[in-house]
Amino acid sequence: MTTSTAAQPTPINHWIDGKSYEGAGTRRGEVFNPATGQVTGLVAMAELADVDAAVASAKEAFQSWRHISLAKRVNILFAFRELLNAKKEELAAIVTSEHGKVLSDALGEVTRGLEVVEFACGIPHLLKGGFTENASTNVDVYSIRQPLGVVGIITPFNFPAMVPMWFFPIAIAAGNTVVVKPSEKDPSATNFVAELLAEAGLPAGVFNVVHGDKLAVDRLLEHPDVASISFVGSTPIAKYVYENGTKAGKRVQSLGGAKNHMVVLPDADLDLTADSAVNAGFGSAGERCMAISALVAVGDVADPLIEKIKERMATLRTGDGTRGCDMGPLVTGAHRDKVASYVQAGVDAGAELVVDGRDPEVDGEEGGFWLAPTLFDKVTPDMSIYTEEIFGPVLSIVRVETYEEALALVNANPYGNGTAIFTNDGGAARRYQNEVEVGMVGVNVPIPVPVCYYSFGGWKASLFGDAHAHGTEGVQFFTRGKVVTSRWLDPSHGGLNLGFPQTH
Ligand code: NAD
Repeated sequence: MTTSTAAQPTPINHWIDGKSYEGAGTRRGEVFNPATGQVTGLVAMAELADVDAAVASAKEAFQSWRHISLAKRVNILFAFRELLNAKKEELAAIVTSEHGKVLSDALGEVTRGLEVVEFACGIPHLLKGGFTENASTNVDVYSIRQPLGVVGIITPFNFPAMVPMWFFPIAIAAGNTVVVKPSEKDPSATNFVAELLAEAGLPAGVFNVVHGDKLAVDRLLEHPDVASISFVGSTPIAKYVYENGTKAGKRVQSLGGAKNHMVVLPDADLDLTADSAVNAGFGSAGERCMAISALVAVGDVADPLIEKIKERMATLRTGDGTRGCDMGPLVTGAHRDKVASYVQAGVDAGAELVVDGRDPEVDGEEGGFWLAPTLFDKVTPDMSIYTEEIFGPVLSIVRVETYEEALALVNANPYGNGTAIFTNDGGAARRYQNEVEVGMVGVNVPIPVPVCYYSFGGWKASLFGDAHAHGTEGVQFFTRGKVVTSRWLDPSHGGLNLGFPQTH
């Protein structure tokens, strides 16, 4: 390991009304470089007045933005797409410097966000309504979709570039104006995006950023001028946001935590399965809501599979995300310590610790928040390493005898975000995708994040509300339907009739 001296932390401000905005208060949060452990930024923590200023700016901008032609809105999004594509490496480097994930992974998340921008460029087609001529004689009926107004977007630390982009491109394209509250742990990516949007020609006030904590979130939830909330984060907060947002009369989509199972049947291709388990278990240090954290080994598949997983784990390099390593640090020291405490709890509960990542060899600095890939075998469903969302590089093998036992285990879990089945039996895979109570299913694909023109979201404690993110459900969420029944001409068709309107 190496050591280096700390530079002066940079201030990270809000972005309101098209410019950087210091804020009304003096509270600042520390932002770390997780690979060094040093404080690199001091982020403004919003006071109520800052949230109100952002909402007021968005409300004012909505009055004109909603009337701007689709062609002009889309032109701005196309320009943003070009800028983002040209500067994606720069954004990825910002993500790595505050989140810790390795550069290639950060670039992957930017690219998945970029895809949603491209999807939103097709908004004119997506907003087309229906038209029925002569629903009644000389009466036409048509449907239109209109923007909601000011929409709030509250995002987690683990995808600081991609998760905001699941929402705001579609929201803006549909004519809404936006206030984003990113995670206070890695806030700079959203500010970078705000600058790019301004450079692309987005009018001031259409996209605002407030940084902060519960105070800012609560203000967005209760603010009378905020029409909807899109939240992504841990399950307890997602539930809280859903309950309080809907109580305040808002439309809410609230995506929560996860515990994703990978079921491996005895006929699976073990090399593909071992590669997939390692990639999905330890990529981004397990800090993905679609990470695999429980591998359910059916029948006698566990022993040979564990050997293959161990071989692969031995080749992984943990270290600074800018140095070409496979896996970076965890996001904060507190989170690293929490994950390490789960590892100890697994040992204490009697699980077999096959690979211990707690004292890792690292290609990075001494102060970084390190914990290397960790593998448990013989994990049982009563252990906390199974019941809790660990959100770290810890993969647990649970052994079961039959497919039915595996399915029952997955379906009994309170979460239902993602799952995968590995098998060469098409019938078994088909049965699993039909029977499993999970929102996103992979067949020989470990991280089944849908492409942007489908919608992303889980079931049960992984999503509150019924609208998933992006795709056509995203368009529905950020618009509301109106149906117009219209008659022109011919007053001779008038006359008094107090009966209920009929078409016949
Ligand atoms: P988090 O719940 O701690 O924070 C999410 C957001 O809520 C942040 O903006 C944070 O500032 C805010 N927040 C934190 N505490 C709050 C409180 N008491 N009241 C109001 N707001 C509060 O989540 P995180 O640690 O940033 O992210 C990791 C979690 O997000 C994991 O549980 C992961 O599974 C989940 N996640 C889910 C998805 C999904 O699509 N389902 C995607 C990414 C992450």
